[in-house]
Parts: sequence; structure tokens; C-alpha cells
Amino acid sequence: MLRKVQGRNDSRDTSPSPKDLADIKQQSELRHPYMDILGVLATKHDKLPLIAPPFLHVVSFRIETIDIDTDTFGTFTGEIPRQGSPLDTAIAKARLGIETTGVKIGLASEGTIAPDPEMPFLTVDREIVVLVDEVKRIIVWESQLSYDVITTSISANATDDLTSFLSKADFPNHHLIVRPNTGTPQPVYKGISDIATLTSALHDCANASPDGLARIETDLRANHCPSRRPVIAAAAERLAGRIATCCPACNTPGWGIVDIILGIPCAWCGSKVPRPQTEIQGCPACRHREYKSLVALGTQADPSECSACNP
Ligand SMILES: [Zn+2]
Ligand SMILES: [Zn+2]
Repeated sequence: MLRKVQGRNDSRDTSPSPKDLADIKQQSELRHPYMDILGVLATKHDKLPLIAPPFLHVVSFRIETIDIDTDTFGTFTGEIPRQGSPLDTAIAKARLGIETTGVKIGLASEGTIAPDPEMPFLTVDREIVVLVDEVKRIIVWESQLSYDVITTSISANATDDLTSFLSKADFPNHHLIVRPNTGTPQPVYKGISDIATLTSALHDCANASPDGLARIETDLRANHCPSRRPVIAAAAERLAGRIATCCPACNTPGWGIVDIILGIPCAWCGSKVPRPQTEIQGCPACRHREYKSLVALGTQADPSECSACNP
């Protein structure tokens, strides 16, 4: 843990003793490059209380928010498709915060809620939080996965009994979006949190839809979807931990795992089984890398894991 550099409180003697100088030097070496400076978080979805606290706590790095229309980078509702990967989008948002405010360090987050690629019957929420430092020319990011996000949808009309759907949707804790089920994309009602608004939106959207139905779905924006919020907070906490760790060679914040080498030799045939063997830690600014073995020397993989011995 880093400590704040304390000022000398003796005003009568202005010349520091050799011991003071040694202490000051040691403390300045401990001083984190982001201590007591400011970063800017681009969001309009109330993410500041999720992202700022771990940075303040771990390195006294202050984050303030700027209300930027991040929907221009793409929306969950699909009216504006996202350009590029989620990481690219998060970086672009952070850079817009920097350009808009002149603050040199920008942060942003981006979530993707989709079927899990390996288990498509499960919905996975992947939240990325990124930090862009224009002065040090670094980009550092971390992510967090969750299978606990609440997301559901149904096609219905205003007279249907929605009791069980609303319970599954955790309404009104989680807010809803209503749109016409087919045909015209308008009107769209977002952030619905009470029954009266829901009923009137259902009525309007069902009337506008050729099949007489409205589409109701979870509003996935971070300020309307409480089950996303702890996931964003966890990604921010990981990023704060990484930012707190500085490169042993150049002292740039953001030291951490950059790659994992797979390959444990099979005990029978010696061919490599794709299990983590070595962790590579690296710096976002310089080329310094450190290799840390994850298994004891001479570790062999069980032949049951080997595609050659157990095809
Ligand atoms: Zn084998
Ligand atoms: Zn470095």
C-alpha cells in the first residue's frame, strides 16, 4: 500500500537533515505517478460511483465524470450499431473525454451482453474498464465476466398478464424498454420503471406494430440495469490494482499479466497439453517482461488430458 508523502511540520529549521533527505527520497520513490492527480470518466450512465472509489483508495488517483453522449458509440438497443470491438469503443470514449476536457488521463467502460460462445444457453456480461494516458502514451484495461446479469424479453399486448415476466425481469428494480414488435422501429420507450408508463408504452407500441404486439425487453444501460453494476465495479477494482502496480524497469503504472504460455508435457508421450504453464508479466510502456512459472519444474500432464493419448 502506498502512503501519502507527509510534509515536514517544523517551520523553524528549514534545512532538511541527511536523515530527512533520505526519508524524502525513499518516500518519493514510493509515490505513485498518479497520486493526487485527476482523471476523467466519460459516461452518461452514472458509472462514477462504480469506477472511481478503488482508484482513490489504492493510489489517491481522483476521477471526475464528464457527461458525454456515449450512445454515439453504439447502443444496446441497436439503433446505433457499435463500431469496432468493445475495447476499441471503450478507448474511443476515454479519448473523447480527454479531448473534451483537456484532462490527460481518460477512463471509460463498455459492456457486452450476449450468449456465451461456449455455452450459448447462458448469457454472459463482459465488462471492460480502460484507462488511456495521453502523456505516458499508454492504454491499460481489465475486464470482468458475470453470468448473473438479468436480461429477458417478451412480445405481448396491453391486455396480457405479465406477472411472471415482470418477476423474471426483476421489474421495477431493473428497468424496461418497449418498442413495436414488428414493422416500424418507432416509438421506443426506455428506462420504464412503473406500471402506468409500461401500460401506456405497451398500448402505443402494440398499436404501431403490424402484428398488434409490443416487444418488452430489459433496459441494459448501466444506470437502469442493477445486475451490471457490480460487474463494472469488479472490473474497475481489477484495473485499479493493475494501475497501482508500476513497472519495475520504468515505473509506469499498469504492470501486470500480458500473456499466458500454454503447454504442459503429457506424462506418456511428451506432447504439449494446452494447460497454463508460464505467466508473462509486462509493462504498457516499455518492453520489460518477467516470466513466472505457474507449475513446479518437471510437472507433467495426465494422459487423459492429452489429445494424442486420449483422442
Ligand atoms: Zn500423450
Ligand atoms: Zn516499463
